[in-house]
Amino acid sequence: MNWEFSEDFARKMDQEDPLSFLRDRFFIPKVSNEEAVYFTGNSLGLQPKTTASFIQQELKDWAELGVEGHFHGKTPWFDYHKVLTNTNAKIVGALDSEVVVMNGLTTNLHLLWASFYKPTKSRFKIICEAKAFPSDQYVMESQAKFHGFNPDDAIVEVAPRDGEYTIRTEDILAKIEELGSEVALVFWGGVNYYTGQVFDMETITKSGHSIGAKVGFDLAHAAGNVKLQLHDWGVDFAAWCSYKYLNSGPGNVSGVFVHKRHGEDSSLPRFAGWWGHDEGNRFLMEKGFVPSKGAEGWQLSNAPIFGMAAHRASLEIFEEVGMDQLIAKSRLLVAYLEYILAQVALKFDNCNFESITPTNPEEKGCQVSVLLHGQRKELFDKLTKKGVLADWREPNVIRMAPVPLYNSFEDIFRFGKKLEASLC
Ligand SMILES: *Cc1c(COP(=O)(O)O)cnc(C)c1O
Repeated sequence: MNWEFSEDFARKMDQEDPLSFLRDRFFIPKVSNEEAVYFTGNSLGLQPKTTASFIQQELKDWAELGVEGHFHGKTPWFDYHKVLTNTNAKIVGALDSEVVVMNGLTTNLHLLWASFYKPTKSRFKIICEAKAFPSDQYVMESQAKFHGFNPDDAIVEVAPRDGEYTIRTEDILAKIEELGSEVALVFWGGVNYYTGQVFDMETITKSGHSIGAKVGFDLAHAAGNVKLQLHDWGVDFAAWCSYKYLNSGPGNVSGVFVHKRHGEDSSLPRFAGWWGHDEGNRFLMEKGFVPSKGAEGWQLSNAPIFGMAAHRASLEIFEEVGMDQLIAKSRLLVAYLEYILAQVALKFDNCNFESITPTNPEEKGCQVSVLLHGQRKELFDKLTKKGVLADWREPNVIRMAPVPLYNSFEDIFRFGKKLEASLC
């Protein structure tokens, strides 16, 4: 592509973009009465304009039907969670029976660990990425302690090599092989939240299985962002949140994947609740937990309907577009953003942007993280004032996510202009 740093060029790209019509389906936040350049969809996706009507429908059913809404609402609450399953399953590459939406992400990770981290005296280690998202670090630490292990002994991190920012697959595989039968669980982020690196989940899964370990992923930054094939890859379990790339609203519900071979195994240990009980007999209210088949057997509580209603609004858009088209646009947006950053860096002596995101398009989604050599947080603060909503990480990293559902090429052009204005 012959990129150009011009408004005409960016507008032409938008005109030729088959997905440009989607931007208008979302509310774009404003800063000083001007549409923001919203690059934080990796943290909190934007609100679809239809979200309110989905929630309104449930408020109406509750007002008009009361408890009858469980079975006679427009979408009965009794199995409301099921309407979220199929689109989530497509997004992560799973069978419907392998997916359920429930609770929050970190809660779900603990529930899954209860089933899949079963350490013994000789096999208790957890292999993970260095600098995992803090909530994941706390899950690992507290799970190790819960089972009576010292986290310093149990948790083994694989880090980037000196002078590098991303983790080499060969180093992950070498560590898995080195520790072999000591490893109970390989637990990894699908996409690292800081660098945006997409890991080779298929290869990591194969490697973990070859030494007899279980393999699970946190897909918070992967779901709705990159291509996933959890079923075919043979992943044991995974969980993701719905409020980042899936645009379901702050703190909203989480998706869970449990591979079919485990979903039908009622002998797995689990922390049970009535909503995970065999559906046909749920209301017998008797002793003796019998799990529902599939991922639904991990449910605890009846579904939080308003959150799920909001989640539906955005899933409807994913259903219409599909991941392949989104990924194709995402690659163009990211390439344009990288080009603009390079162009700006050429014009100014006082900056040198070094991307810590992999250069290979296969190893990244729609996030670019740059180290600002020679610049500090003042630059980020200036950008924020000018309406660029990005994400700052100490000591000097800006994370930006041009999201194919609602970001435009013009957004990236405008970002470039605002960056220039903030540097001089
Ligand atoms: C965003 C994110 C979380 C957040 O967890 P919640 O339980 O939804 O607050 C956890 N893990 C990762 C990797 C994340 O990116």
